[in-house]
Amino acid sequence: MGLYMASRLEPSLFPKHSKLRAIKPFDPWRSPLCTCPMKWVVHPYTGCAHACVYCYASNYIPKHSTPRPKKAITYDIVRDLKLLPGGALVELSSSSDPYTPPEANLQFTRKVLQLLLEGGMRVLITTKRDLVLRDLDILERFRSRVAVAITITTLSNSLAKVLEPGAPLPSERLKAIEVLSRHGIAVTLRLDPIIPMLNDEYDNIQNIIRAAAKAGVVQVTTSTYKAKPKDFKRVYEAARMLQGSSVAEELRYLYYSDSKAMTLQGYRYLREELRLNCIKFVKEVAEREGLAFASCREGFAHLHTPGIACDGSSYTYAY
Ligand code: SF4
Repeated sequence: MGLYMASRLEPSLFPKHSKLRAIKPFDPWRSPLCTCPMKWVVHPYTGCAHACVYCYASNYIPKHSTPRPKKAITYDIVRDLKLLPGGALVELSSSSDPYTPPEANLQFTRKVLQLLLEGGMRVLITTKRDLVLRDLDILERFRSRVAVAITITTLSNSLAKVLEPGAPLPSERLKAIEVLSRHGIAVTLRLDPIIPMLNDEYDNIQNIIRAAAKAGVVQVTTSTYKAKPKDFKRVYEAARMLQGSSVAEELRYLYYSDSKAMTLQGYRYLREELRLNCIKFVKEVAEREGLAFASCREGFAHLHTPGIACDGSSYTYAY
């Protein structure tokens, strides 16, 4: 491992930033497969009410489906901004949706977004919620320093209601892509996680990418589902309910009994050939639609569009 990678994955190598209160170095659970550039992350809320069955953050954060606002966040951000270099890349948020339902009234994310952008930072937003459109005035003002990733895993309302019960319907997310793009904001599609036998049908993948391309995304980033015991239990139940017990058992086999499945940093990965087939198909469709392509924590960085970051940061510019 080179020095850059070592420093990127080891926040303690940045002692001068130990005084930071709300903005922290991005630590993708120390995954050696993460291809994100060095960046920072801030969470205006602890937890997320979207209650996605596959949510890995629920393994780490107690009462994850009950979002709690961080009351001192704006005060802390003002302090932290004095310690960060201008143009630093800050993600909003990595283990919750910054537009989780209470944000509609509380506006913590809106205040943080404004502070970060007025403070000269570059900002990445990943969300499933069209509430992001409320902040269009801020996003437009700083459009060269911001990119928004919208997650869509299916176009089927009924499947979305099982996989992501608290999140807006796919049509509302497509609408958000369309409006943001029309206002000159760079929008990428997060087509993940792809879960075998639940949302991995070719038609599902093609239709999502085509609809997102039509709405204006510039890039697709994808990944397959990585299992942890707590979220796998929910995914298993969803598969059993939607497809029956034999499919749910097959899913269990793929993640926990297949001798070629692997464990990395505590996550169960599908065997490589299954993941590769899936990622290659997404790449093929994305490129057919004229979109950039990247994958997330798969180990297939050689398939990415050259010069393109997985997290959408390629569309943000420091000045
Ligand atoms: S939106 Fe993200 S953080 Fe929120 S529950 Fe779903 S997967 Fe977890």
